[in-house]
Amino acid sequence: EMDATGAQEIQMSALQPAELWQESGRWYAYGPEMWRVKDRNGRDFCLGPTHEEVFTDIVRQNITSYRQLPVNLYQIQTKYRDEARPRFGLIRSREFIMKDDYSFDRDEEGLSKSYNDMYDAYSKVFDRCGLTYRAVEADSGAIGGNRSHEFCALCEVGEEEILYCDSCDMAATSERADFKDAIAKEETELPLEKVNTPGTKTIEAVCELLGVPQEKSIKAILLVVQEDVKEKPKYVAAFLRGDRQLNMIKLVNALNVPEYTVDFADEAAMGSETGCVGGFTGPVGLKNCTIVVDTELIGAKNMVAGACEKDFHLKNVNYGRDYKADIITDLKLLQEGDPCPCCGSPVKSARGIEVGQVFKLGTKYSEPMGLTYLDENQQKKTVVMGCYGIGVTRTLAAIVEQHHDENGIIWPMSVAPYHVVVELIKPDDEVQAKLAEEIEKKLEAAGVEVVLDDRDERPGVKFKDAELLGVPIRINVGKRAGEGVVEYMLRRGGDKLELPAEEAIAKAIEAGMKVLLDATKNGIDILNDVDTMPEWRLDEVAWEYNMIY
Ligand code: ATP
Ligand code: MG
Repeated sequence: EMDATGAQEIQMSALQPAELWQESGRWYAYGPEMWRVKDRNGRDFCLGPTHEEVFTDIVRQNITSYRQLPVNLYQIQTKYRDEARPRFGLIRSREFIMKDDYSFDRDEEGLSKSYNDMYDAYSKVFDRCGLTYRAVEADSGAIGGNRSHEFCALCEVGEEEILYCDSCDMAATSERADFKDAIAKEETELPLEKVNTPGTKTIEAVCELLGVPQEKSIKAILLVVQEDVKEKPKYVAAFLRGDRQLNMIKLVNALNVPEYTVDFADEAAMGSETGCVGGFTGPVGLKNCTIVVDTELIGAKNMVAGACEKDFHLKNVNYGRDYKADIITDLKLLQEGDPCPCCGSPVKSARGIEVGQVFKLGTKYSEPMGLTYLDENQQKKTVVMGCYGIGVTRTLAAIVEQHHDENGIIWPMSVAPYHVVVELIKPDDEVQAKLAEEIEKKLEAAGVEVVLDDRDERPGVKFKDAELLGVPIRINVGKRAGEGVVEYMLRRGGDKLELPAEEAIAKAIEAGMKVLLDATKNGIDILNDVDTMPEWRLDEVAWEYNMIY
């Protein structure tokens, strides 16, 4: 599918010099997830978590003119990320395989075309992998840029939460989803009043004691930003309506610092500096910290908030009169049942595994790294970039999540490690062994990938293993081998057929052929080219597309 978009495959090294990352500013910004190493002379390198800098560098060494653009390059390569919590096997590991792709265009219009082409290609890839997925708007995280979509394989155990709307086409990750503010009731501002609220450390408790709904209260979240260990930490207090949840990514984006530098504050340490008091913090009277206020609080009148004094709250707190913000922004996490930010209908939620993501980078890398070209009028212009990644190993895990039963994996044909498993029931029976090997050879000659299970194990053990491995087609060669009859069955289920060996072979080849036809239907016109293809390319294509020729 990559080739069908006109992209070209290359292979860069996993080991990358720090200098490239210093140029883009990410040597610092990427943080502890980057696997840093030194060479024997003490020079800094990293094991690439991603390759924007490296691809930008190779293109700037080779591109000078508008005539050479667009360029679209990809690789399938091992990536390294020192994940804080590697888990779920291949879903989040410190070493994994990524298919990453970088597009280089003359302008925004070119980028839009590249982005749409890659979006379509990714859709086709995931269709062919047999995944049920959704492409949703996403935050662009450490990669950056201004527009991004994630491809999420739908799955109960997925780490990603997706919010979507059935009445319109809004669909976004919970990190990215906008929030439609409730319109506050008009009220006259009442005088500020300090009330004794002993032991009410939570929003629930204080609202119950004072008899006010949670939407009339202000929740405080206390954070610390430590950009450099040698510097004094910077404190942040974020405020939103008591009945809302904080969206940490929105807050991190508003602060414009790397995510890894932000943490929850130690209330006591922050208190001596800013005057906050754990459980009783409000925006009135805080000092020496960045105050971030959610948009919804601006018009909200006569709210209850902590008094920054143990066992006391303030009533009738109003923005403008009683406190001011350093930053006003949407801080809210959109949740199931909240009004859709586009049309107002209640949104739904689903869980998924992020298997791929596409980004419009613009000039985030080309600008600082000086990737330019000369246009038709010999004017210097900055190249406009996009980047696109598929987690190959994670995709495999996501496929297994969606295609399995209590006995193991059920691989879709297109991604099965083998199309057919031939079970030789009695390896020491010469007739059975001969027929099994004959079937294996004929299928292999037709380009079908076969594994012959000739282990000296009980049939029950071998069948269990075959089910666990999930090979889509199984051919059992057993007691009717003398008559040339075998059993043919699909891992997916259905009838076990007793067939002459030749018929079983033909059926398996046909099933493999379907994969090829699907590929062709998806726009890869390999069938037309087959006659003119050189032998080596034919082999490659056969391998790439599981093609039978
Ligand atoms: P996540 O949010 O899950 O940490 P990411 O958004 O940081 O992932 P990208 O930079 O978008 O990841 O990388 C492209 C793809 O690589 C992801 O869509 C995902 O499929 C895969 N991927 C990223 N991190 C890992 C990992 N630790 N293990 C396996 N696959 C990964
Ligand atoms: Mg991602």
